[in-house]
Formats: sequence, C-alpha cells, structure tokens
Amino acid sequence: MSQVLVLVEHTDGALKKVSLELLTMAKAVGEPAAVFVGNGIDAAADKLAEYGAETIYVADDAALTGYVVAPIAELLAKLVAEQSPIAVLIAATATGKEIAGRLAIKTNSGVLTDATGLSSDGGTVVAEQSIFGGATVVKSSATQGTPIIAVLPNATPPEASPAAGTRTPVSVDLSDAAKGAKIVDSVVEEKGERPELTEASIVVSGGRGVGSADNMAVVERLADSLGAAVGASRAVVDAGWYPHQSQVGQTGKTVSPQLYIAVGISGAIQHRAGMQTSKTIVAVNKDREAPIFDLVDYGVVGDLHKVLPQATEEVQKRK
Ligand SMILES: Cc1cc2nc3c(=O)[nH]c(=O)nc-3n(C[C@H](O)[C@H](O)[C@H](O)COP(=O)(O)OP(=O)(O)OC[C@H]3O[C@@H](n4cnc5c(N)ncnc54)[C@H](O)[C@@H]3O)c2cc1C
Repeated sequence: MSQVLVLVEHTDGALKKVSLELLTMAKAVGEPAAVFVGNGIDAAADKLAEYGAETIYVADDAALTGYVVAPIAELLAKLVAEQSPIAVLIAATATGKEIAGRLAIKTNSGVLTDATGLSSDGGTVVAEQSIFGGATVVKSSATQGTPIIAVLPNATPPEASPAAGTRTPVSVDLSDAAKGAKIVDSVVEEKGERPELTEASIVVSGGRGVGSADNMAVVERLADSLGAAVGASRAVVDAGWYPHQSQVGQTGKTVSPQLYIAVGISGAIQHRAGMQTSKTIVAVNKDREAPIFDLVDYGVVGDLHKVLPQATEEVQKRK
C-alpha cells in the first residue's frame, strides 16, 4: 500500500494531539508513515504505532532542529524523492504551513492548506476545505507532484489502529541555505491549566463587546467551567486586553474546535477566517443584526454580562 508521510508535531517526544489525528486521516487513504524529527522518539514511538504508523522515520540529528523550519523541509523533500508517498500530511499550524510551502516548492508539488477532511479518488488523495464562512465545502487535489496537505487540528477524532511502528533512521545533508536562520534560544511558554488554543475541543472567545481587560474574566470563567481555551478577536488584542497569541482570525490563529463560543464578537470576515470550520458555533451578542449570527448554530441575543454568568453557573451545576 502507498505510504502517506505524516510530519509529527511534538516537544521532546510529548506528542501533540494533531499528530494522532493526522495518522488517523492518513490511514483512511494509505499506509501511515510518521516522520519524527528531533529528540524523544523513545517516549513517542509506542503511541505513534498505536495510532497507525507502520513506519517511523526518525531524524534525530541536532542540526535539523537547530535552524528554524528549512532543514525539516529539506528532510521531507528527500523522503518524498526516496519513498514516493501518495501524500504528505502536516499540521496546519504557522510552522506547519511554512514547512508545507517550502516542501511544495522543493518537490514541484501542489500544496493544499487548512484541509478539514481527506478522501481517496482512485488513488488520488483529495482534500476537503471549508470556505466562504463555512457555507461551501470544496474538494481539491494537486495537479502535479505529491500533494502536500496542511490539515487543521481537530479535523477528526484520533482513532487507535495498532501498526508495526518500525523505526527507520533517516538523515539529510543540509544545504547552506537551510542553515540561514539559526535558533539561538528557546523558552518554554508558561502554561496555565487551559488547553492550547489550536488543539482545544472547546474555545470561548471574547470580542470588543466584553468592554475591558478586566471583563475578560467573565469569558475565562465560562471557558474554565467547560475546560475550554480562551480566544480573542483582534479588537481585544489591539486594545491590549488579551495577549496576541490568543487572537483568532486571518492574522491570528486558525481554530477548528468541536464547539466555538463567540462572545461580544461582531463576526467580521477576518475573524471568521480563523473559526469558520468549528463544528458547532454559538454566539452571544446584544445586536440581533450582528453578522456573526449568519454563521452560528445557536445564537443568544443578549447582554453578555448577564448571559455568561448564568451559563457558567448552569455548566457548574451539571458537573
Ligand atoms: C488585514 C486585517 C486583518 C484582520 N485580522 C483579524 C483577525 O485575525 N482576527 C479578528 O478578530 N479581526 C481581524 N481583523 C479586524 C476585523 O476586521 C474586526 O475589526 C474585528 O474582528 C472586530 O472585533 P470585534 O468583533 O471584537 O469588535 P466589534 O466589531 O466592535 O464587535 C463588537 C460586538 O460586540 C457586541 N456587544 C457590545 N456590547 C455587548 C454586550 N454587552 N453583550 C453582548 N454583545 C455586545 C456588539 O453588538 C458587536 O457586535 C482584521 C482586519 C484587517 C483589516
């Protein structure tokens, strides 16, 4: 069966959930082969095999992780040339999309981003993308080379499907160009109890309607009652009410959770671009004409300062 390469996202072997999701999607169209770059394979190998990796290409040369993303694109290009996979799957994170673009250039291939589903049409891998505020689903395939597909986190639930997980060491002779941007230091971000925004199953986002930095606590309380991540519109970030890494939208992060709750957010096209593929969308807004209501599955017309505390209380009662 034809291989589907899956670039694994991890920190020292602690796997990101999206990597297991990609293996699950790869399994539906071919034979999953994980590509693990960096340290920590011993911590990760069993889980990769459990979720369907027949082969695990292990590249633990320190140079590969010492120079931002270019070396990883060179490694993947080499694997594409040697293994002729039917597709390469990469998480549609900021880093992942940069690797996907570079890899597509190196392999003269088509790149498809923000995919929410995959299927196979007579051996051709077809990606599903959601556009126009989620109103239209398009199916696309690459017309040349190997399809390089950046898949949104949360596109599918990970499903265990035990496989061999045979480890194969791989390496690449890096070009000088790949060593152009060196990582001189990295700092692990202080993380609270909340899940990471792009990986969370539930996201509660606050907009300008929240009113102030202090009022974001109302959004946080609902998020915490649901075990959700907290997002924000750009208006909130620009006002300095919440950190930039929480921004959802065209110039922020793309999220695709099971449930997205937009609070005091009008629903500008640039905000929608980052959340329109969420499975269920709920909005709380005092303006019944707000464009966000065109997009929602459930809408609450009301003052968020009244609605959110009540919703939080109800969620707490059901625990
Ligand atoms: C190039 C470019 C890139 C951009 N990128 C992004 C991006 O990545 N992400 C992003 O979000 N935006 C982005 N924007 C900005 C975007 O156009 C909007 O300006 C922004 O999303 C508006 O944020 P908002 O919905 O929080 O604020 P507003 O549009 O001001 O909406 C506030 C909403 O809160 C409601 N409200 C007010 N008080 C209450 C209350 N008490 N209870 C309930 N509802 C209330 C109002 O009815 C209103 O609908 C970008 C813009 C440009 C030009």
